[in-house]
Amino acid sequence: MSLVIKSDKEIAVMRQAGRIVATVLRVLSSKMRAGMKTEELDDIAVRELKKLGAKSSFKGYRGFPATLCVSVNDEIVHGIPGKRILQEGDIVSLDFGAIFQGFHGDAAVTVGVGKISPQAERLIAATEGALQAGIAAACPGARLGDVSVAIQRYAESRGYSVVREYTGHGIGREMHEEPQIPNFGLPGQGLVLKKGMTLAIEPMVNIGDWRTTVADDHWTVSTSDGSLSAHFEHTIAVTDAEAEVLTSL
Ligand code: MG
Repeated sequence: MSLVIKSDKEIAVMRQAGRIVATVLRVLSSKMRAGMKTEELDDIAVRELKKLGAKSSFKGYRGFPATLCVSVNDEIVHGIPGKRILQEGDIVSLDFGAIFQGFHGDAAVTVGVGKISPQAERLIAATEGALQAGIAAACPGARLGDVSVAIQRYAESRGYSVVREYTGHGIGREMHEEPQIPNFGLPGQGLVLKKGMTLAIEPMVNIGDWRTTVADDHWTVSTSDGSLSAHFEHTIAVTDAEAEVLTSL
């Protein structure tokens, strides 16, 4: 873990890694159906990644057994794909990372299976909005706390809580670099953002309480109160002006 400022050339490679991540997430979102096993989504991710000539950031990371994290309903992050069958009305967080020419891209989306409840729809919209608020705050000269608090305010003003025990992170040649990026904080505090910093910003937002529980599989993180959770993430680069989203098409 160290904080690394990237050159324009390195960011150009990260843009390619990011596009690969966005492409795979788009395919996964379009193929998700009720009746599917979550491991089928992992199979698709493996296949698409191979087609695009990149490698998984997640598989084998601290022993993680899959290419994709699939977290359903009250699961927040790090769900292991398996035999669970997706049901109409589920919300599914897909977190995916790829390495291309030595650089990582990392992004996540929460997608509904078929028709979902209005409460779930509002949660998903608020989490995506919180991510956009965080990205908008990631200007050169701003501080990390400005990003964190933008996310927190967006989510909490809508009646939700932000997960505190897991954070966003710097990203580059390592999937997790400095700094950690909490989804809560204080304006004007923390590291000053500079051009060439590449960050994975990732609000995890719960309908209920922010507290989390890790399952017996040692990976799957769920809300302690069983409430629904959503997760959105982009890898971005701090520029001279507005941040550039690298994990987009
Ligand atoms: Mg991440």
